[in-house]
Amino acid sequence: MFPRSFEYFAPTSIEDALALLAEHGEDAKVLAGGQSLIPLMKLRFAAPDYIVDINRIQGLDYLEEQDGSLRIGALVRTSDMERSELIASRYPAMAAAAPLISDPVVRNLGTVVGSLCHADPQGDWASVMLAMGAELVCRSATGERRVAIGDLIDGPFTTTLEPNEIATEVHVPDPGAHSFGTYLKLERKVGDFASVGVAVHLALDGDRVERAGIALTAVGAGNIKAKEAEDALAGAVLDDATIDRAASLAAEAADPKTDLRGSADYKREIVRVFVTRALSQAATAKAA
Ligand SMILES: Cc1cc2nc3c(=O)[nH]c(=O)nc-3n(C[C@H](O)[C@H](O)[C@H](O)COP(=O)(O)OP(=O)(O)OC[C@H]3O[C@@H](n4cnc5c(N)ncnc54)[C@H](O)[C@@H]3O)c2cc1C
Repeated sequence: MFPRSFEYFAPTSIEDALALLAEHGEDAKVLAGGQSLIPLMKLRFAAPDYIVDINRIQGLDYLEEQDGSLRIGALVRTSDMERSELIASRYPAMAAAAPLISDPVVRNLGTVVGSLCHADPQGDWASVMLAMGAELVCRSATGERRVAIGDLIDGPFTTTLEPNEIATEVHVPDPGAHSFGTYLKLERKVGDFASVGVAVHLALDGDRVERAGIALTAVGAGNIKAKEAEDALAGAVLDDATIDRAASLAAEAADPKTDLRGSADYKREIVRVFVTRALSQAATAKAA
């Protein structure tokens, strides 16, 4: 199917893009990689009157650390994450997730920020960013605010982003001098959306977990932060009993539905197995 007709804007500055959204926000959509928006428009699940394409705006493709925090600009593609030495060396959960997202064509176009703004419960980036305590920087013509990823997601394909706002970057706090991270994904075939995904990030202090982030993909109406599992790990040593307890709490936090990908019980069990696997890897890495 073809999308309904729309007016297309390709501003070259963020100010011009924000002015367009101030004028047309309710009836407009921001276009980044187009890997989610264009299929939705073709299926006519989305039919915006105006498209504000941000791809011609210079300087939104930075991927850098500043004062220890990571900044991912709105035009950083998943393939940029996949190829980045900085991501490979300091952010293992992101490095693990990037190559598991779809295929090279989608990764070359789809942006990290666009994935967060799309809020698909099967989106992989939101779990990684939830586990790492990231925030989205949102700008409108009248100002800027930061929103934690947990407060951004308001339900399936729904966010708290205002129609006049552009998300300009993801801001990820310092992972810690000693940290562990991974992303585990069950997919029916290579490049598929997640049947279940689990992101784990641990800041370590010697033998102990200083801070834990665990988030789940595709097992609820949005990506889920497994808060009770995180709390069970904070300050604890990663022994078998602690790992079992955290994995069980994460499985309890999941709220999966039975569908063609598997039963709810099966998916909840996969969460438990993945969290056990990730935390066991962390314990082994720490001991080595
Ligand atoms: C075949 C296929 C397979 C896929 N498989 C996976 C997968 O395995 N895992 C996964 O996580 N994803 C998958 N995706 C989704 C893909 O990762 C998308 O690229 C991503 O979800 C959206 O990023 P985008 O830059 O393409 O956003 P777009 O499609 O351009 O936009 C998506 C939404 O976000 C809004 N938006 C985008 N950028 C901004 C911004 N800066 N400010 C405000 N609003 C904004 C748009 O208005 C729109 O509502 C797949 C997509 C396809 C087509």
